[in-house]
Amino acid sequence: MDTLASISSIKVVEPQNPILEVKDLHVVFSGFKAMKGVNLAVGDNEIVTIIGPNGAGKSTLLDAIVGKSPVASGHVYYRGQDITNHSPYDIARMGIGRKFQNPNVYNELSVFENILLALKGTHSVFASIKSKLTRVKREKIELVLDRVGLLDKGFAKVSSLSHGQKQWVEIGMVLAQDPAVVLLDEPTAGMTPDETHLTGEIIKMISQNHSVVVIEHDMEFVKQIAQRIVVLHQGEKIAEGSVRDVQSNPKVIEVYLGREQIDIAA
Ligand code: ADP
Ligand code: MG
Repeated sequence: MDTLASISSIKVVEPQNPILEVKDLHVVFSGFKAMKGVNLAVGDNEIVTIIGPNGAGKSTLLDAIVGKSPVASGHVYYRGQDITNHSPYDIARMGIGRKFQNPNVYNELSVFENILLALKGTHSVFASIKSKLTRVKREKIELVLDRVGLLDKGFAKVSSLSHGQKQWVEIGMVLAQDPAVVLLDEPTAGMTPDETHLTGEIIKMISQNHSVVVIEHDMEFVKQIAQRIVVLHQGEKIAEGSVRDVQSNPKVIEVYLGREQIDIAA
């Protein structure tokens, strides 16, 4: 019965040969220390979930990894290579894909066209839509649509989709770039419970071929997908481990889980 125990028993230790590694990372915004010495290691095919109160620095951590927030000190390594403060374009090209908090999709185009535009080597909207699709590209797009559960929606205009489906289109656009590491910032924001659950299943499937780092605040969802959880608070990592480890950590209860329970009760 105890699925939590079985989930908790896997991959709660840091990987030996991380594909992505963050060491003693500091980010400073005009004197404000948003990230104060964070360490993180992500292994192949691993799902690492980041939780923490608003303003903890979760998005900043992902921003620093992809070169969007300047790293004041510390390092980001990808496959052992130092990529600290490389350009977002270079980091994306190397293999780290990032989905932002708000869906960034082309509403007037079809789901299929949105994925097509995200494929590597596609540069112009009109050129790529008008040009003849190669079989390789078509199959690739269909594979991505299948992964995000939208195979039957390929011809639908994105504007006709639900909010949750739009989020899946954007996850598909990230996957279309063949990243080895997928970073997802609150992918279930604004979703219905059913959509949230499906997103969890999508993320678990994605982790069969990619490493995934997910920022999330819905604890039910965290339990559904979580292997290893990292808890951030005021720019620092205050806990790391299984669902059970962090749920029983007094500091985590004090700054995050306890408060969330009060929020729910209110
Ligand atoms: P989270 O995603 O955990 O809610 P963020 O990483 O967005 O938190 O923000 C962490 C802290 O850094 C917050 O206090 C936020 O106001 C601040 N911050 C984030 N981005 C910037 C920025 N570009 N300039 C100044 N302050 C920022
Ligand atoms: Mg955030």
